[in-house]
Amino acid sequence: MIKYNLECKCGKIFESWFSSSNEFDLLNKKKLVTCIYCDSNTIKKSIMAPNLKSKSNKSSKRINLEKSIKKRLIDFRRYVEKNCKDVGNNFTQEARSIHYDKKSSKGIYGKATPEETSELLEEGIEVSTIPWIDKSEN
Ligand SMILES: [Zn+2]
Repeated sequence: MIKYNLECKCGKIFESWFSSSNEFDLLNKKKLVTCIYCDSNTIKKSIMAPNLKSKSNKSSKRINLEKSIKKRLIDFRRYVEKNCKDVGNNFTQEARSIHYDKKSSKGIYGKATPEETSELLEEGIEVSTIPWIDKSEN
């Protein structure tokens, strides 16, 4: 059974029970749903106020999305750590030496200020900034 708030063209709202939403549509089409106040059969389903449950579903969805993004960033960090060399604060220097001396083809990662990063990019050195997420945080 399903309960609907029904709205009549007279402006009154009343409740009625149906076995399914299809049943309501069918009965209403045949003009068999009538207003309890004025007997009119011009009835429509009243819009339900959003309830708290759907609200909390939405926010838990958002939390799940944040969690999965975070997980991917952690995976990405692990991948970088596994496959690239940590050069720490020497990143700018190392990136230049790889670019100009073609010293090593191995990827590197490390720290650079936004200014250093934009300098490297201006020199045509391919660098990207990635969100470095704390692995302990979960
Ligand atoms: Zn009515």
